[in-house]
Amino acid sequence: MSTTYAYAATDATAPLAPFDIQRRAPRAHDVQMEVLFCGVCHSDLHQARNEWQNTVFPVVPGHEIVGRVTAVGSNVTKFKPGDLVGVGCLVDSCRTCASCAEGLEQYCENGFVGTYNGVDRVDGQITYGGYSTQLVVDEAFTLRVPDNLDPAGVAPLLCAGITTYSPLRTWGAGPGKKVGIVGLGGLGHMGVKLARAMGAHVVLFTTSPSKIEDAKRLGAHEVVISKNPQEMEAHLNSFDFILNTVAAQHDLNPFLNLLKRDGTMTLVGAPEHDHPSPQVFNLILKRRRLAGSLIGGIAETQEMLDFCGQHGITSDIEIIPMQKINEAYERMLRSDVKYRFVIDLDSLRK
Ligand SMILES: [Zn+2]
Ligand SMILES: [Zn+2]
Repeated sequence: MSTTYAYAATDATAPLAPFDIQRRAPRAHDVQMEVLFCGVCHSDLHQARNEWQNTVFPVVPGHEIVGRVTAVGSNVTKFKPGDLVGVGCLVDSCRTCASCAEGLEQYCENGFVGTYNGVDRVDGQITYGGYSTQLVVDEAFTLRVPDNLDPAGVAPLLCAGITTYSPLRTWGAGPGKKVGIVGLGGLGHMGVKLARAMGAHVVLFTTSPSKIEDAKRLGAHEVVISKNPQEMEAHLNSFDFILNTVAAQHDLNPFLNLLKRDGTMTLVGAPEHDHPSPQVFNLILKRRRLAGSLIGGIAETQEMLDFCGQHGITSDIEIIPMQKINEAYERMLRSDVKYRFVIDLDSLRK
């Protein structure tokens, strides 16, 4: 066991505060790492404030983690001390169900083990995430980080990156395809960069004219102000795929109407209140599909990191010390971040 400095919420209304935890000694298949950077995901805030009603307190959030290996268990073959590694939303799963057998651990039929607020399958302990100086994770759920990328900018790829990469791949974003990205936040800005690198024609939908310039800088070929009906009408029946990253409750019909016959719109934002059901005829008449997607499996997450290495893609970030996390949460609620906060864990080691 080793003492690790962390930040935790002790109940749903408490601000995050310093909290020491004990990390287990590496088991045979474990990788122990010094955490370098951890991205700040909206799920962290939801869970710190128990907005999904399933938080076990104290909770140490953080599932966009980049670290440096400090020790490995006796049976570890994939990693050695000094390696730059990543950990995302999952640290284990049952490894035997149909989904796990297909490398889709995020859909584990027996429930995946979350990087925080999960229950370790071996010792029954509650898992603690990356708002901490040290982490111990099974090598099967540890990712290799390309060494040509800025490690701080890589951190958000472990959740925001894979959450957008997986559906873009699943629904065939690539050359000759017209792809829409709805919303330009932490997820949306990754969606724009990835879809562009995959070779698709990328159209960003936003309600804010102030985001037009930035969307183009990030890689969008076109930007549509979605509250302007004339602009929307110009794109009727023209999209192969739309990735909708908006978490706020909204009318899905105006976007479904932009899909071609057999086109799909996939939702990845987690809304506090469900969107109203779309009009059924908007789906029936053109055999359109409305889908959802959850992060990505471990193999696909490695594929995404390698793809980002090849294309030089990282997240646009603002680095903060751990001590500024509560302020960062308030700013995140106001969408006052371009486009992801990343905690520098050196701030907790000093
Ligand atoms: Zn996340
Ligand atoms: Zn499983």
